[in-house]
Amino acid sequence: MNHKIQTTKSQQFINITNKVAEIVKNSNVRDGIVVVYVPHTTAGVTINENADPDVVRDMISALNKAFPVHGDYLHFEGNSHAHVKASLMGSSCTVIIQEGKLMLGTWQGIYFCEFDGPRNREFYVKIISSSDKHISI
Ligand code: ZN
Repeated sequence: MNHKIQTTKSQQFINITNKVAEIVKNSNVRDGIVVVYVPHTTAGVTINENADPDVVRDMISALNKAFPVHGDYLHFEGNSHAHVKASLMGSSCTVIIQEGKLMLGTWQGIYFCEFDGPRNREFYVKIISSSDKHISI
């Protein structure tokens, strides 16, 4: 359930799609949902484009423009920008599992979002099996 992740930059998006897909595959759950949860206040998780690496670069750039590292913040730790970005990305994401596979769009990937690294981080994965496939629409 707990999965370690080592970030290497102060701000970084790490594609964890393959790791989550592998966890789902090893669970042998064919239908259900998987929840990825990040138990940190300066890191988050989001789903976005997996094809062009410039997209995550641009996302970090845009977030830094909106919420600069150094700004009018009071928080004594000096990492308020990271707290704001983490809340924006969110602390969890949910993906549908169908026939043992993640139902992501072609261009979608799951990203662990580091905003106050580098650090040793972790994320939790919870898989919920659907016993009644007929409720899927
Ligand atoms: Zn802080």
